[in-house]
Amino acid sequence: MIPPTHYRHSNRVSLLWLPPALAVCAAIAFVMAFVYAYAMVYVPVVQLAFLLPIVYGAGMGAGITWILKKAKVRSPFIATGIAFLATAGSYALSWIPWTYATYARADVPGLTFLDVLWPPSLISMIAGIYETGAWSIGSGGGEAVSGVMLGICWVMEAIFVLGIVPFVAHGAAGGVFCEKCDRWCSPIPDVMRLPVSAQRELAPRLDDRDLRVLTEVPRAQPYDNPFLVVDLAVCNGCGETNTLCLAHVHRTQQGNREHVARTYVVSHVLLTREQADWVRRG
Ligand SMILES: [Zn+2]
Repeated sequence: MIPPTHYRHSNRVSLLWLPPALAVCAAIAFVMAFVYAYAMVYVPVVQLAFLLPIVYGAGMGAGITWILKKAKVRSPFIATGIAFLATAGSYALSWIPWTYATYARADVPGLTFLDVLWPPSLISMIAGIYETGAWSIGSGGGEAVSGVMLGICWVMEAIFVLGIVPFVAHGAAGGVFCEKCDRWCSPIPDVMRLPVSAQRELAPRLDDRDLRVLTEVPRAQPYDNPFLVVDLAVCNGCGETNTLCLAHVHRTQQGNREHVARTYVVSHVLLTREQADWVRRG
């Protein structure tokens, strides 16, 4: 059998750590449903009502993925899938406390939390909000958004919450995992920067694990943009699982925010411990 030249995650999950991790994810999804619902009802500024769904979705995506990574879930696909399901479940659940809090804010007489736990009653309460608008409950109508416009807002809200999860989760998930040590390797980003003009020379030879090419091309100038960057991941346990990536980095200014676009030119070539040390020393 030819040994692999590039790292590929094993898709494995830890049967010891996955069940407690899923329990923690479920608990977070449950608590965050209430936090989000009350934040949406008592949000003081209307602009925040547009920001909160994005913050909620991004926070859930990052948080759930972080926990799954701690639980040694190797596959970004599995981690992203679980993060999406946990966020979708949490968001669906948030309708129950949200409906309750919307009526409670309006001091609707005789309201108890049991009213929102009984599905037919929950549905008719949401229908009431749809007809009169969330801000007009108990005040006899008014200028609040209601009807079809409110329905569109709800669809937009769901898209904001759920749409961002895959991006955040997939970005945070994965990494290089040493199956021998049963632990994640440490990333060592930005080991060296190389000029884009050397990409055609670098990419095939690095994919072939011909590291001499790194001594044959010049280094990037500090002001170069775009440029190539070498990132390593090394196992601090056995030292046997080490990878090298070459990424094309392009910085652009959008308003007063800097946008960094990264694309991998060489993805996770496996190195020996000696090779990784040599690259690390530059
Ligand atoms: Zn190791």
